[in-house]
Amino acid sequence: MIGIRIHGRGGQGGVTASRLLATAAYYDGMYSQAIPMYGTERRGAPLTCFVRLDDVRVRERELVHEPDIVLVLDPLLSTRQTMADGLKPGGLLILNTSLKPEEVQIGGDIRIATVDATSIALETLKRPITNTAILGAFSKVVGYPKLESIEKAIMKQFPGRIGEMNIAAIKMSYEKASEVVQATNTEPMESESLAVGGYGVLKDVSSWRVFSPVIDLDKCTGCKSCWLYCPETAIKWTEENKPEIEWHKCKGCGICVTECPVKAIEFKRVEVRR
Ligand code: SF4
Ligand code: SF4
Repeated sequence: MIGIRIHGRGGQGGVTASRLLATAAYYDGMYSQAIPMYGTERRGAPLTCFVRLDDVRVRERELVHEPDIVLVLDPLLSTRQTMADGLKPGGLLILNTSLKPEEVQIGGDIRIATVDATSIALETLKRPITNTAILGAFSKVVGYPKLESIEKAIMKQFPGRIGEMNIAAIKMSYEKASEVVQATNTEPMESESLAVGGYGVLKDVSSWRVFSPVIDLDKCTGCKSCWLYCPETAIKWTEENKPEIEWHKCKGCGICVTECPVKAIEFKRVEVRR
């Protein structure tokens, strides 16, 4: 099983990248799964998606917490140590940056490949939509899906001229991707923690809340539905097998309130910001 996490911003096509990757892998004969994860959909907002690829049927449905590969579509996010959070030892970071991999300051027992996907997208698509412009690099440094399979997936999603422009982007990206090198810094750099959802990647979203979810732990059966459905990964799990809300990540969407099967979560008006 190969777990992949994709970081980007709204407007860069991260969700489409996850779909194209999963579809291309399917054309290669693999089993695949794409999991988009939205915060509020807004251009420029950080977003995260996940992909699983395997030779056997993929039965897991949760987020990929310890990816083998992290793909970063945004050049600013590509400078963040947090992009490597959770990456398995020896895991691979594929970054959209004009830097060579040995110049990247992200550290740890990780491998790095880079491609200037923004320049490629501007040249081929005339817009900074970097999703396809990084998939060619993925194919080259990972070894799959085949470039032809990505092309087929693109033409299915974007028949006609748009598809052809995106195919030009993946081909250029395939040619221009760097080699894979071990990270120059052996230790992780100082960095803020990563919350892999929507706006939560780099920002405190607590000021978005008008209502706050309040959990009655006496009623809670520990079923984990709230943890599973929370779009901001704002619910962590305690040693007592109970949910606990990380307030800086909670945007007050109320999904946990709806999903709790025993009505153990109540929505209360926020009077004081936490
Ligand atoms: S309201 Fe619930 S589901 Fe929504 S972000 Fe907060 S904890 Fe997560
Ligand atoms: S969904 Fe409700 S019962 Fe299940 S863990 Fe969350 S609070 Fe507890």
